[in-house]
Amino acid sequence: MKLLIMGRPGAGKGTQAANIKDYYKIPHISTGDMFRAAIKNQTELGLLAKSYMDKGGLVPDEVTIGLVRERLAEADCKNGFLLDGFPRTVAQAEALDEILSANGIKLDAVLDVNVPAEKLIRRMVGRRVCKTCGATFHVEFNAPKVEGICDNCGSPLIQRADDTEATAKNRLEVYDNQTAPLLDFYSKKGILKTVNGDQPLDKVFEDIKESLK
Ligand SMILES: [Zn+2]
Repeated sequence: MKLLIMGRPGAGKGTQAANIKDYYKIPHISTGDMFRAAIKNQTELGLLAKSYMDKGGLVPDEVTIGLVRERLAEADCKNGFLLDGFPRTVAQAEALDEILSANGIKLDAVLDVNVPAEKLIRRMVGRRVCKTCGATFHVEFNAPKVEGICDNCGSPLIQRADDTEATAKNRLEVYDNQTAPLLDFYSKKGILKTVNGDQPLDKVFEDIKESLK
């Protein structure tokens, strides 16, 4: 089971990735975790990646691709893996194809956990958090008993600066612009599985399992 999972920010991709990892017993390879592990283990590529991150720059494709190549060569990936956060561009997807075909394998499926952008904006904009205890609420879907006040500790609730409509819209637009060509790339290969992410989490996972049969 060699998979890639995609989804707009806030679509619940993380929850489904954890479900897939447990159910199919394959490693979940998120680029964030992969970078952190390589830096912690002070591998050559890890140190190289860190030097770019320390300067506040983007890690170049060849470094990321090298890290992915190393990670996929590890023993736990023998029976499959779930990629998350890589590839992000068609160029990276082509590089991934090369890595895999060098080992005589290919991706079995690309899962797109799809929640419409408008729904995600509504979810983000209504979110409220307690600065004191960290509890989260939603004005529409999980309202506190008293408006603007934390149920747990009575502190005032705040809206995070990046939970505004403008920020949410922008974040989703950036994501859609970047990934549209990638979805098209995998759709043409016939391995794109679009799953409705706008339903209860266990139902989403049922649909994922069904699409992978
Ligand atoms: Zn609180």
